[in-house]
Amino acid sequence: MPNKFFFRSAFFGAFCLLTLSVELSTSTVNAQGIQFANLVGKRVDMQTTKNYFTDVEVEEVEPGKLDNSVKHFKLKSGKKTAKVVASRVVEMFQDGQNLDVSYDKKNKSLIHDTGKQTERLTYERETNQRLRPEGHRLWKHLTVEEQEVFLKGQAEFVDDAKKKLAGVPLRQVETKFFTFVTDLNRAEVDGYIAYLDAMYAELCKAFGLPPEKNIWAGKCIVFAFRSEITYLGFEAKVMEINPTEISNTQGLCHQFPDGRVVFAGYKGTNNFFGHVLVHETSHGFVHRYLSSARAPSWLNEGMADWLAEKVVKGQKIKTRQRLAAARVKKNNDWNDVLNIKRITGEQYGICSVLVEILVARDKGKGQFKKFIDGIKEGHSAQQCLKEHFNITYAELKGIYGQTIAGWK
Ligand SMILES: [Zn+2]
Repeated sequence: MPNKFFFRSAFFGAFCLLTLSVELSTSTVNAQGIQFANLVGKRVDMQTTKNYFTDVEVEEVEPGKLDNSVKHFKLKSGKKTAKVVASRVVEMFQDGQNLDVSYDKKNKSLIHDTGKQTERLTYERETNQRLRPEGHRLWKHLTVEEQEVFLKGQAEFVDDAKKKLAGVPLRQVETKFFTFVTDLNRAEVDGYIAYLDAMYAELCKAFGLPPEKNIWAGKCIVFAFRSEITYLGFEAKVMEINPTEISNTQGLCHQFPDGRVVFAGYKGTNNFFGHVLVHETSHGFVHRYLSSARAPSWLNEGMADWLAEKVVKGQKIKTRQRLAAARVKKNNDWNDVLNIKRITGEQYGICSVLVEILVARDKGKGQFKKFIDGIKEGHSAQQCLKEHFNITYAELKGIYGQTIAGWK
């Protein structure tokens, strides 16, 4: 049976659930012997300096100057074709395997780089060894077939949910990365989908991912209901969550060990739902980023609120920050927010300020991304903070104190 850990956010009534039971895989791939000419007619994923192509057919491989090298590719997807010159190719995958390509400037050709391959395999082995004791692992690049299996399973899951919620007028809206199942009206749905797209774009930017790349296993499933009773009914009937465990919550993100992410929540009348949706779904995105390892509670919740404010805007997060700062000043204590396992609702307003502090100190060298990467690679947050921002937890606490000192 999987272990279940619950993360509650009382202010929004948001609720983040993580099911951890990770089957470990070595995820070693071996692309030795790749012959570029043999890729003709095969389907690949390709990251270029400008685009991300998913599941495109290699129509033509123009050989480069060296043996087994490429000058350009011609790719085909449906009726569209694209010519990609070697210098633009960043990464290529076939059948889930990284082809470890490099651009040889001297010969103006793309080559299979065995040095890069060895480095990657060593990184994957060492990182997985570090993550394994906590039951985590690096996510593997999913093959087209694996994605199709996820999508098929998700379609069945949604159909099953609809049957179990018979009587609720549910509609389904598909976007590139989300399946939106809802009884809200079209105008409401459009607004929330715009938030999800903006969240996705922001997180891709923060983590240096191409925005066209699908981070999800299949898609992220979003159940957005009008009323609390439908939400609780969904959680009870479909997710088998006891409603008493999630009373006073407005949304919940289920993050599964195989990579699936399901959000459920209800709009209600409090005008928070946009924040809840972005906050919770961003937990799902972070779950799917790089590895299944979790950031400490302060960082996880701080990032989710920071993003909710950035995407949904308005004063809700700012108000939360002011209230939390006032409490910290009044009590001259922030209750060990950096070290406690699960922050309390009152501390969310501290954590988003901490994230703002770090983002502001990112001097364009991607320190924030490296900080998150380090944690996702199994290093401690304190170690990563010192390494990438050159500050300790005690110093971060001091900076927070200075930041809020002038706040009224
Ligand atoms: Zn949360």
